[in-house]
Amino acid sequence: SHRLQQLAAISSAPSTPKRTRKGNERGAGERESLNLVVVGHVDAGKSTLMGHLLCQLGCVDQRTMHKYKQESARSGKASFAFAWVLDETEEERSRGVTMDIARTTFETDRYRVVLLDAPGHKDFIPNMITGASQADAALLVANATRGEFETGFENGGQTREHAMLLRALGVSQLVVAVNKMDTVDWSKQRYSEVESALRAFLAKQAGFSAVRFVPVSGLAGENLVKRVDKGHPLASWYTGKSLVEHIDEFTAPSRQTDGALRAIINDVLKATPQQLTVTAKVESGEIEVGEKVYIMPNADAAIVKAVANDSGREGASDGTCGAGEQALLTLMGTFEQDTIHVGHVVVRAGKDTLIPGRRFVARIVVFDVLVPLMRGTKAELYAHSLCEPCTIVKLTAVVNKASGEVIKANPRCLTRQQSGRVEIETEREVAIESFTACRALGRITLRANGQTIAAGIIEEKIA
Ligand code: GDP
Repeated sequence: SHRLQQLAAISSAPSTPKRTRKGNERGAGERESLNLVVVGHVDAGKSTLMGHLLCQLGCVDQRTMHKYKQESARSGKASFAFAWVLDETEEERSRGVTMDIARTTFETDRYRVVLLDAPGHKDFIPNMITGASQADAALLVANATRGEFETGFENGGQTREHAMLLRALGVSQLVVAVNKMDTVDWSKQRYSEVESALRAFLAKQAGFSAVRFVPVSGLAGENLVKRVDKGHPLASWYTGKSLVEHIDEFTAPSRQTDGALRAIINDVLKATPQQLTVTAKVESGEIEVGEKVYIMPNADAAIVKAVANDSGREGASDGTCGAGEQALLTLMGTFEQDTIHVGHVVVRAGKDTLIPGRRFVARIVVFDVLVPLMRGTKAELYAHSLCEPCTIVKLTAVVNKASGEVIKANPRCLTRQQSGRVEIETEREVAIESFTACRALGRITLRANGQTIAAGIIEEKIA
């Protein structure tokens, strides 16, 4: 067909030679970026904790903070001032919840940490998924308050679901902040209770290997950046690192700067028949002014007219944007109305191009579903910034969660907590590929009726 010829032509064409900027190395004093997702049950104190941490690090100016404090006092929710640091709109503020992925950055000794805030409300889980699927590492916030930790951890609580989701998506680095320690008088015993319950779950059920724990209070601002002062009740039994010190100890993510160009469109700011302005996350490779690119899955050809990046990197205006950075792109071409969407991916021609597909093999973990997954189960497929209807067309195996070993071939269904290999078919072609080719394009989540039913990684594209 015309379509196949077109894709074949793109994959056999020479790719635009790269003028690779003097390596993608950071300049002196520049830090490597680390995408951190913050998860945990609603009201665990995620926003307050991160907001306070940003204040202590001087990321929020005094005037803004003063304004937040006044506004929140006026609205009768004084303690929300720190949480507002991460909120963006009045509407979110009046509802008292964080709705979108608020992107904020702060610096540790080694990293420029990009915060992917993940609100815990049930109906906001799609955002949490977007955050988790972009994460290099995760911070799980648990609430030490008596009774509240239990709520967040037992059935219906989001602590387990979030941890399972992270693991299924291949996020393996995790720090747990045991928060609101002020509400339990900084009790070592309560901390240990929470720690051992979570440690057992995270190791045995979720399959995390080395999880670190740290006691904090987001509201009081204790042990976030600085270690606790001598004389503080917490210091009587805790002499370990602060939260930021723990974050600084994550292993650096491997950025595929030399890899094939993969820039995921996450917002279309302006579209005319000749020109597009989009923001895109460069997950692999690098994009530069003047080169010819294709936008998958539709293979729309375009010339890159301008590249700006919001990484804060010095010399960021050199017309390139590399792996790990967020790019503002101006693309010239001939675009039919409404053809370019969030979730489309900018690639080059050549053998490293991305051939879109409709049918994929995925390794998934099934969540606490009431109805098992079967052949014919319909769901929404979430991958990077994409959401597309799909159907499970084949169940290949039940596999061991840890080893990946096949336990049962061709099962009739996959029930809650099982791991398995399935084939998924989307209604339209989508730009996703195997987890090994590109982590960000190979992480998927399946949702149905407002519930996350499974999450996992793409192993291979079949058609
Ligand atoms: P999120 O839903 O996880 O983002 O939680 P929020 O940050 O919105 O906090 C939920 C509630 O817990 C708010 O009323 C906060 O003021 C309160 N809170 C958050 N952190 C702490 C803490 O460390 N100590 C105490 N006592 N309350 C806290």
